[in-house]
Amino acid sequence: MRTIGLIGGMSWESSSEYYRIINESVKEKLGNNHSAKCILYSFDFSEIEKLQHEGKWRELTNMMIDAANKLKDSGAEFLVICTNTMHRMADDIHKKTNMEILHIVDTTAEEIKKKEIKKVGLLGTKFTMEGDFYIGRLKDKYDIEVIVPDRVERDFIHNVIYKELCNGIIKESSKEKFKRIIKNLAEKGAEGVILGCTEIPLLIKQEDVDIPIFDTTKIHAEYAVRYSLKDES
Ligand code: GLU
Repeated sequence: MRTIGLIGGMSWESSSEYYRIINESVKEKLGNNHSAKCILYSFDFSEIEKLQHEGKWRELTNMMIDAANKLKDSGAEFLVICTNTMHRMADDIHKKTNMEILHIVDTTAEEIKKKEIKKVGLLGTKFTMEGDFYIGRLKDKYDIEVIVPDRVERDFIHNVIYKELCNGIIKESSKEKFKRIIKNLAEKGAEGVILGCTEIPLLIKQEDVDIPIFDTTKIHAEYAVRYSLKDES
């Protein structure tokens, strides 16, 4: 079993999901009393989200590189970044630390491909829905077309993530609005929807919507276990 290095705390609400899923998955594969070999570096999310909203991405990249180096020095054998948004600097982290990174877009794209879906909706932070690091990678590397909600809906989703979900607040009214937004995406041709923020699965489950969901937290965490056990089938 290879030791997983987790960069988390963004927010801890989803990092705890990663920790739970990873350990449950190891137990399921190896049997009772087995659990994952992993090391978690957990940020203070208040510092992170402030810098994100100030657009200080260079500073954030340096903080992520520092966290990756700490995990490397502690014995982590590969990295799992427990947030979609902070994959924005994944390539820089890899270049500067030489640590292998299990990219959340790659693991998610594999699942989309398995379902033979060509066009998906994407929900996430505005950084994820409006930048190129996520949508571009899906298009260029996997030929998957991505559509995103309109501007008002994107603002709404972004605010729910930072004001509610990252603070452990789950509101029925927000859930209903997310369901409506997903329905709109389906009407525009989305055959599935990526829950491209690791807290959204706390709000939306498969039974809430009619099209397949891609829960990036679960997909990424379970892939990390297969990778750790050298079983990538
Ligand atoms: N966890 C979220 C994500 O997957 C948002 C928090 C962050 O900005 O990192 O994008």
